Order: sequence, then C-alpha cells, then structure tokens
Amino acid sequence: MMAENIYETALQQFDQAVQHLDINPGIVKYLRVPKRELCVNFPVEMDDDSVQVFTGYRVHHSTALGPTKGGIRYHPGTTLDEIRALAMWMTWKCAVVGIPYGGAKGGVICDPKTLSLRELENLTRRYATEISVLMSPQGDIPAPDVGTGEREMAWIMDTYSMHHGFSVPAVVTGKPLAIGGSQGRAEATGRGVVVTTIEALKRRNLAMEDTRIAVQGFGKVGAPAAYLAQEHGATVIAISDVDGGIYNARGLDIPDVRAHFATHRTLTGYPKGESIANAELLELDCDVLMPCAMENQITAENAPRIKARIIAEGANGPLTPDADALLLKKGVFIIPDILCNAGGVTVSYFEWVQDLQSFFWGEDEINERLRRIMVRSFNQVMLVAQEKKLDMRTAAQVLGIQRVAEAMQWRGIYP
Ligand code: GLU
Repeated sequence: MMAENIYETALQQFDQAVQHLDINPGIVKYLRVPKRELCVNFPVEMDDDSVQVFTGYRVHHSTALGPTKGGIRYHPGTTLDEIRALAMWMTWKCAVVGIPYGGAKGGVICDPKTLSLRELENLTRRYATEISVLMSPQGDIPAPDVGTGEREMAWIMDTYSMHHGFSVPAVVTGKPLAIGGSQGRAEATGRGVVVTTIEALKRRNLAMEDTRIAVQGFGKVGAPAAYLAQEHGATVIAISDVDGGIYNARGLDIPDVRAHFATHRTLTGYPKGESIANAELLELDCDVLMPCAMENQITAENAPRIKARIIAEGANGPLTPDADALLLKKGVFIIPDILCNAGGVTVSYFEWVQDLQSFFWGEDEINERLRRIMVRSFNQVMLVAQEKKLDMRTAAQVLGIQRVAEAMQWRGIYP
C-alpha cells in the first residue's frame, strides 16, 4: 500500500470541516491552498571537501492572524506536500489555542544522522540564509520539528543576526535558554499532551492514577510526555524510539529510562523491560495511547487492533483518515493533533513575546499559562463538538477555520 499523502489528509479534513461552517466560498477556496511556497536547492560543503546539493522548503499557509509560525524538519522522506499539510495544520493549531499566528512549515530533505556536526551546521546556516527572504520576527518565525532542536535554532538565530549586524532572538523559537530561549519550551509539547489527556480522562471519569499509558516516540514530545504522565501518577507501560520499544506491565521508571537513553542513545537493551516492536506498542492493552513520533502510524490495517480508549496525538497526523473513522466508530476518544500538541507552539509564542520585550518569565508562570490555554482550548473544542455533534478532530478544525475566516472577513480582500 502506498504511504498516505498527508496533504490529501489535511485537505480531506478541511473539506469535511467547512461543511459545518457558513463561510464565504471564496475564502474557503483561498484557505484550501498555501499562501506562498519557497523551494530552495543549495550547496553544502561536506567533510570530504565534496559539495552536495540539498533541497529545502518553507511554506506559509496563512497570514490572516499574524506572522507565520511553524517548525523546520530534517528528514529523508520530506516532501513539499508534507510541508504543505503541516503548514496548514499549524494555521488551525494556532487559531485553536488562540495565539496570533498564521501557519508555516519548513523542511530539508536530508538524514541528519548521517551528517557530521560541521556538515549539519553548514547545511543549517545555508538553509537559514536561503529562507531569510521569508524569515523575520514580524513575518515568519521558525522552530524545531522532527530532526531539529535547540542547536539548529541557535545556528539559525546566529546566521540571521550576523546578516543584520545585531542579535535578533525573536526570529526563531525553541532556542537554548542562554540565547533567549524560554523556560518550559523543551517539554512544552509533552506538557500540553498530558494536560489535554487529563481533560479527556475526566470526560471518561478516569484519573491519571488509574491509567496505563503507551507512548510511541522518545524524542522532544514523547520523552517529556511520558515523564510528566508518570509524575501525574500514570503507569507508563511502554515507550519506543525509532529502533523499537520497551514494555513493562508494572510500569517503567521514566527517569531511569532517560538515564539509559542518555548513555546509549537508544532504548534497546534497557534491562528493566521487555523489548517490543513499534507496531506491537501501538496495539498494547492500555488506556491511553500517545503516538508522539511520525505521521501515518495508525492505519486501516492496524486500527482494528488498537485497544486504547483515548488517543492523544502528540505527533502531527499520526492517524490516517481511515484509521480515524474506524477508531471513532469503536468509541475511542481522539485528542486531535492540532489541539493535543499545541503546547509547543504556545510556549514558542511565550518565547517570542519574551524576546521582543527582552523580559523573561519564570518557569512556574509559563507552565501555568500553558496549562490554562490548553484547558481552555480543550473545553472550547469540546463545546463545538457537543453543539454541532462532531468528533473532536472535526470540531477542532471547525473552531480553527472559523477563527481564521473571521479574521479574513474583517480584513477584507486587498485591494
Ligand atoms: N513543530 C512544532 C509543531 O508542529 C512547534 C512549532 C512552533 O513552535 O512554532 O507544532
């Protein structure tokens, strides 16, 4: 079976959501396409003195609510369509949590694991230069995504600042604390996943203490989500990374797993759990499944075997539309990506605000503001779902699209 094209998924979700809205058909047509797309082919000097040409993208989906915001991914399988989908989802995500941004996404087709540190830095600085025609604190603010992190954001900030002759921290978020990053940003996405999971559990009269959780992914999202879930009393029975997973029915000690991961850079060989395949993890008997890795993990093929009662989408697009339909029919409560993983961009917004004001907040304040926004957004999506009798994903899309369309209505069509 061909891998699902997530841009088609995003368009399908959009088409379904707009049926429940009364918006100008012209605006619907415009929101269905990205506002602008940049494709860059650029050379990078490699360690063996050869020159390799890489392809990268930066797509802006909408600027109706403010500057565009969204991460940059480094992945060998990246395509323009994937970036288009992720940019569109960023637009709805920012609107759902009520932060004044439009959606963007960027990516470079590469396998960062095969690049040396110097090659990665060369690639990042050159890509940043190539997309600097779009990037600015007022126009487009990148952030980390799959395959990138604070190190890459630091290089982007420095490259942009070198071109301007002064430091411009607000041009990118997810930076190290030392150069204008925010407290709480590193675990913000995972924190949001846990906050929305607690809300979903309440709707099922369950508490974290009664909950067995399986987490797919042990990166920027999965690792903090697993840790925070355990801190809230949940039993994390399984986690995985790209190489495979570990399982312990009595629960894994996440700080201990983290220590193993820090030393070995893999979960494989962790002594206090059985090893399991990624596919098995998804099908475990658990209460909550948190897919926090890549898109298209749960498909029509494995959806019938999913046992979780709640799915918290830490990743973007982890369910195919067919899987989504099957799981809804089974009565699974799905916390959709554009709500569930919005904690990351929310604290990115806090970081940007702090950078613009050169005034930094404490961690407690950030975590509390994040929690309030996630709970409020969850309740607002839930309300739309109840009022319009929709599933949570469609309700979140409806809420996001409606907010963007309203902004466009007020702004009017130029000229
Ligand atoms: N890449 C993250 C996402 O998909 C964060 C984006 C941001 O912080 O701008 O939401």
